[in-house]
Amino acid sequence: MRYISTRGQAPVLSFAEAMLTGLARDGGLYVPETVPSLSKDEIAAMAGQSYEEVAYRVMAPFVGDTFTEAELKGAIAKAYAGFGHVARAPLVQLAPGHFLLELFHGPTLAFKDFAMQIIGQLFQIALAKQGKRITIVGATSGDTGSAAIEAFKGLENVDVFILFPHGRVSDVQRRQMTTPAESNVHALALSGTFDDCQNRLKDMFNDFAFRDEVGLAGVNSINWARVLAQVVYYFTAAVSLGAPGRKISFTVPTGNFGDIFAGFIAREMGLPIEQLVIATNQNDILHRCLSTGEYRMDGVKPSISPSMDIQISSNFERALFWAYGKDGAAVAQLMEELKTKGGFTVSQGALEALRETYASGRVSEAETAQTITEERTRSGELLCPHSAVGVRVGHAHARPETPMVTLATAHPAKFPDAVEAATGLRPGLPARMADLFERPERVTRVPNDLAALEALIRKARTLGEPRA
Ligand SMILES: *Cc1c(COP(=O)(O)O)cnc(C)c1O
Repeated sequence: MRYISTRGQAPVLSFAEAMLTGLARDGGLYVPETVPSLSKDEIAAMAGQSYEEVAYRVMAPFVGDTFTEAELKGAIAKAYAGFGHVARAPLVQLAPGHFLLELFHGPTLAFKDFAMQIIGQLFQIALAKQGKRITIVGATSGDTGSAAIEAFKGLENVDVFILFPHGRVSDVQRRQMTTPAESNVHALALSGTFDDCQNRLKDMFNDFAFRDEVGLAGVNSINWARVLAQVVYYFTAAVSLGAPGRKISFTVPTGNFGDIFAGFIAREMGLPIEQLVIATNQNDILHRCLSTGEYRMDGVKPSISPSMDIQISSNFERALFWAYGKDGAAVAQLMEELKTKGGFTVSQGALEALRETYASGRVSEAETAQTITEERTRSGELLCPHSAVGVRVGHAHARPETPMVTLATAHPAKFPDAVEAATGLRPGLPARMADLFERPERVTRVPNDLAALEALIRKARTLGEPRA
């Protein structure tokens, strides 16, 4: 299996190379040259299988010969062993025909654990084979960073540095990043916003000398291996509700478009998905784009669902690549316009292609809170604000003949203030992390300055301390 860039100008890579590289050198995102398909029988055979067995069947065709069967199966087994639910991604019913896919039983209580845990294992195997050492740098608005740290802490051959906006992540999110004791973990609180963190990260990747010197690798949501790992739960959920004999719809609380794009890949592989619905909060660039064809930045308004507070949705570039018939030059031009003019207009043909694949809805702050309150009464479920955005849009798009599955992207205890404000109930952390607020924190304050950051990373990674 070969991977190509959405902008058509970067080297073609194997799965392992694309995974270790993250962002392509032409600024694009790696995608598989062709999407392998699974037959109806192969999908039907997933019924009753464990999450791990389905994960192997879905991921193996994309991985090619990068990993042996035993290596991939071993990585999958280790990745999900620490989850707090034996089904890994259990479904609960909210209403007739509407289901919630709980993706928050991993170590950091958000769906990002599904991808991050497995790529931690795969990185470790690939690096050991190549005798390489790498430096992972990530930018986070909260959930990605904690999931990355949890996945890479204590692994050989890897240092992990996470940039987060100082004072702008929740206490639970911060503590999940600052309390791991392993010496290869470095939590960096940057004086600035999430966009500043992301921009400094991009600058580092564009500094090719630095990139090569430290073996820079990215695990942000543009990493293809992360998207792939997220394809799995679309299969487990759909099959348990009757696929492939029956069509299933999904609604996905969306920010950087990684999670919902995984649903598109599942559909390309042959899973009968009827509707794939984008749910946004008040930062609704995706909903506006689908509605009007205009993709325009207009600033980030902080919300109670902060992990979806974006103005550029990075993985949307992959959707555009498909909508433009895999024309890398056309995508490169759109991205150039985004950079220089703050937006672009999607061509009529591409807009039609997008609308054939995706529907969308937007949820205001008041509606998000109201949904948390109402759902608590209607079904008894306590929703995190991101999941509430999804559930509201999912209810609106549900059709009686097709089950609707809304993805619950985080545990309510990760966002206790919003949940308490809406319900009067303060959700408690699961027992396995109940002591989070007693553990000592370790964090470095850093300026919003590329040279200072690079100097710090060079120094910290070469200390060569023994692993805790
Ligand atoms: C990251 C995140 C999202 C958005 O996912 P994308 O793949 O970026 O669209 C939604 N909810 C939560 C809780 C998240 O952590």
